[in-house]
Amino acid sequence: MAFLCIDIGGTNTLIGLGNGDFEEKNRMKSKDFLSDIESNITKVLETTDYSKEDIEDVAVAAAGPMDREKGVFYPPNLSDSSELDEIELESSLEKFGDLQIINDCTAAVKGEYEYGKSSENMVYITISSGIGLGAIFNGDLVSGADGNFGEVGHMKVNGDLECGCGGLGHWEAYSSGNRMLKMAEELFDKRFDSAIQLFEAYQNQDYKAELAVQKMKEVNSEALANIINLYNPDKIVFGGPVALNHYSILIEDIEEKVEEMAVNKMPEMVPAELEDQSVLYGLRTFCH
Ligand SMILES: [Zn+2]
Repeated sequence: MAFLCIDIGGTNTLIGLGNGDFEEKNRMKSKDFLSDIESNITKVLETTDYSKEDIEDVAVAAAGPMDREKGVFYPPNLSDSSELDEIELESSLEKFGDLQIINDCTAAVKGEYEYGKSSENMVYITISSGIGLGAIFNGDLVSGADGNFGEVGHMKVNGDLECGCGGLGHWEAYSSGNRMLKMAEELFDKRFDSAIQLFEAYQNQDYKAELAVQKMKEVNSEALANIINLYNPDKIVFGGPVALNHYSILIEDIEEKVEEMAVNKMPEMVPAELEDQSVLYGLRTFCH
């Protein structure tokens, strides 16, 4: 028997397949994957020794809101294409095996706990298209009433910029991959075409890029101090491309400031050991 794990990220989808350990890993654009889930998985299977009948467990995580009752998923940043507004995950995936749909940060913290940077009281924070958190306390995974524990991207910070959810002054409105460009434009009147361009301008000492990065650092400090005060973790593991690609600027540089602001003891802060595969490995732990 085999398992199939699928991490549908804001940009890329990772598909892992195996029996015991992963034997096959595949990466494709989430837009392409979601346009025809069933045939994409069938194609991946054709490149392996496994057939559909060999798969017992299917574990999937997606970066975006989900309606478990309807079995659908709403991709937050692929919606320029209207047929990708609402995706039927359940109907296309349950054909392959026993399906579990798991919050992406919940999976990621489990992945790091089992295979990466482990601690009995740890949180995993992703800063990617959105911002979210998964937690393990006293060695147990915390999932919340609806499996949505740790929607920290929507915590209020000091400001009133509009968030993708419609709320005002949320952490995501300032520091997420989806909103940082809008933040730079609204607060500092400067248009950047991409996060890469913004950070390049920052490296070249562009004044407005410096202001935008400064703003992200301020907001990240506030949010991290809140998380430390609320949850008292002894380790914070960071994942997501925004955090991992700009780790020294966005995280390392603010550690002192966070320590000043936090009432609780400062935890160890580290980048994810599994890099962009924390979610995939976490999903593996939910399968046989
Ligand atoms: Zn929000």
